[in-house]
Amino acid sequence: MSELRDLYQEEILDHYGKPRNFRKIENPTRVLEGYNPLCGDKYTVYLNLEGDVISDIAFQGSGCAISKASGSLMTENLKGKTKADAEELFNAFHQMLTRAPGEDYDEEKLGDLESLAGVVEFPMRVKCATLVWHTLRGALQGREDSVSTE
Ligand code: ZN
Repeated sequence: MSELRDLYQEEILDHYGKPRNFRKIENPTRVLEGYNPLCGDKYTVYLNLEGDVISDIAFQGSGCAISKASGSLMTENLKGKTKADAEELFNAFHQMLTRAPGEDYDEEKLGDLESLAGVVEFPMRVKCATLVWHTLRGALQGREDSVSTE
């Protein structure tokens, strides 16, 4: 059970209980829905862009603790950042969640996103953690359909 305790550490439970930026943006520049059929996580990501800068970002929907905490942490980390920053952070986050045993990840860049590092032990949960990120990426690319992890 110690691994499970690691997975649901305090920071994740805090973000799950009180998700940040958990709201709708009226008339967003971009909006996209994402779905993870394996777990049933379903979220809509809203973005306002000013040039290349994410001036506002929010999400709404429902799902497990991991997916909701990930959305909360993502939106908190990306507000005011550029599209290029978002892509870089996505790559660092994805690498952390899919790393081989013993492989390092960029703690400095990831900051509080590191609280999801334990997800690497639970391959089924990786899609929960990355769903909102894939959705964000689709929104930044201008996709208008929806994103599915399958
Ligand atoms: Zn989930």
